[in-house]
Amino acid sequence: MTKCLRCSRAVTTTNKRTGKPYIWCDACRKWKATYDKEYRSRPDVADKLRETGLQRRRKNVTKKADYDKARRADPHIGQKIRRKKREHYAQNREEIRERQNRRSLTPAGRLAIAASSTNRRARLKEAGTLTSQDIENVYVRHYTTFSSLTCEYCRMPITEDRPHHLDHVVPLAKGGANSVDNIRVVCAPCNLRKKALDLCVFLRRLPEYFRLDLRS
Ligand SMILES: [Zn+2]
Ligand SMILES: [Zn+2]
Repeated sequence: MTKCLRCSRAVTTTNKRTGKPYIWCDACRKWKATYDKEYRSRPDVADKLRETGLQRRRKNVTKKADYDKARRADPHIGQKIRRKKREHYAQNREEIRERQNRRSLTPAGRLAIAASSTNRRARLKEAGTLTSQDIENVYVRHYTTFSSLTCEYCRMPITEDRPHHLDHVVPLAKGGANSVDNIRVVCAPCNLRKKALDLCVFLRRLPEYFRLDLRS
């Protein structure tokens, strides 16, 4: 019989994961859980924990991506993850949309959104993961060539009516990499027209697209 290291009462429960008895009794573990919860909710502690958690997540982006990828690849777990996600979205549609809108108001939020939507498409093809930093590098490279946001295919300026997308030069559908090298800042019309066309086919057709643009 194990004795609780805190109060010396008998410990009757075992840790299901390890199969070993706990070192503290149920009452003491319950006390500890309440204490920890209160401690973590102290404003100064909560801030600190949020910050260290963020740092850890930022440091382990690739590791986490690999871990998630392996979990999604497991038929049983993958199916469960997808079902939970669908349910969660259905139940919290409004909140999720509002949070997304708030994120899109800050530069860091926009980079994260761009990274995750590009990753989402890539994940379907398991083509690698981009970080916010990678997406920032795409824009940094863009501004070394162009003084303002410009479509890298048709060279038209990006405006409110002509928003920009990030396009995979070699489409993921054709085995293209989800990497900075394979991504261009392009206008929405170009991106939508290019879709899964080969880049060279698309570029040959650019003039006719322009004539269509001028007429409409
Ligand atoms: Zn105890
Ligand atoms: Zn364009």
